Amino acid sequence: MTFAADLAPPGHAPDAGVAAALRSALPSGEVATDVPLATLGRWRIGGPADIVVTPQSVETLATALAVIAEQDARHIVIGDGSNLLFDDAGFRGVVLRIGRGLGGIRNLGDGVVEAGAGLWVPAFVRQVIDWGLAGAVHAIGIPGTLGGLITMNGGSQRKGIGENVVRVDAIDHVGRMQRLTQDDLDYRYRASRLQRGDLIVVAAQLRFATGDRQALRREALSILAARRAKFPMVRANCGSVFVSDPALYSLIGPPGLAIERAGLKGVSAGGAQISPDHANFIVNNGGARAQDVLHLIRLARRSVAAMSGIAMDAEVRHLAPDGVMRPAHEVAELLADPA
Ligand SMILES: Cc1cc2nc3c(=O)[nH]c(=O)nc-3n(C[C@H](O)[C@H](O)[C@H](O)COP(=O)(O)OP(=O)(O)OC[C@H]3O[C@@H](n4cnc5c(N)ncnc54)[C@H](O)[C@@H]3O)c2cc1C
Repeated sequence: MTFAADLAPPGHAPDAGVAAALRSALPSGEVATDVPLATLGRWRIGGPADIVVTPQSVETLATALAVIAEQDARHIVIGDGSNLLFDDAGFRGVVLRIGRGLGGIRNLGDGVVEAGAGLWVPAFVRQVIDWGLAGAVHAIGIPGTLGGLITMNGGSQRKGIGENVVRVDAIDHVGRMQRLTQDDLDYRYRASRLQRGDLIVVAAQLRFATGDRQALRREALSILAARRAKFPMVRANCGSVFVSDPALYSLIGPPGLAIERAGLKGVSAGGAQISPDHANFIVNNGGARAQDVLHLIRLARRSVAAMSGIAMDAEVRHLAPDGVMRPAHEVAELLADPA
């Protein structure tokens, strides 16, 4: 089977037999059909997914994968959908949604912590701070799962969680457990080998330095206050749309400033708008479609490139109906020009 960044995942769009097989193999409540993806992502955008499985344990995830492999059904994995743009046409396959069922955490000593992929990132960071460990505090305001954070090498203040990852336990597409070290994960700024989509992270070990608990709590509160002042909090959004580019940064500054300089702050397409508060955010003012967001991504990218000679890449990933997941600017650049 082939998994590559720009190829659809293997398998077919599921028929009714796949949902029936999953329902008979998994506990009730873990399988849903015809689910609006808009309910699973922070942007509140996206058409229906054929099947969504929300495993409550590693065992039921492995069972789901065995059924999916046997039925040769297409599948993808998501966490909280806080970095995903779902397509208006939805997704023809099985969405494996890793959430709180895979969310434990324990302190192994010597600064090493083991946690489940479904753990909510702010809860993870708070626990790490409570254990007097430093190095996770930059992620305190990130509204996703630990699995998503580890896949995206998420973080703030130019840090990424990949720096702390010691080991990742992941299940492959036929249900085999794989153990990967930091070296295997090919961490780069907001990117990792896990974005290929062929492995599902179920747990990770991370190493932190010893820190002062009270100082770390104060730092967390100040990071949260700064984020509240800077980022749009009311309208649905997916955080920063574009990744900061070092060349653009030294020429103009971060993507938000470059988009603002291009005169695009507050510009709308349909229900989507380049946030009037922070130009690297695109907000859903109600009824936004993926097409609207993609138009704004292309407009911002092209305008900043015309001004600076530098084309920004999106951090946000687009999920196509056939399961291809790739940085949203790649899809935006394929849009037809407006008539
Ligand atoms: C308001 C707001 C602020 C944000 N601020 C920041 C920030 O400061 N810094 C930052 O880095 N990000 C930020 N983000 C983006 C986002 O929260 C992070 O990228 C987060 O780590 C994504 O986690 P998730 O669980 O939502 O993943 P999803 O969006 O569901 O998925 C993202 C990618 O990870 C993959 N994935 C998810 N879970 C797994 C798993 N268990 N195994 C394998 N692959 C998996 C998916 O296939 C997809 O490719 C922000 C988002 C919002 C809405």
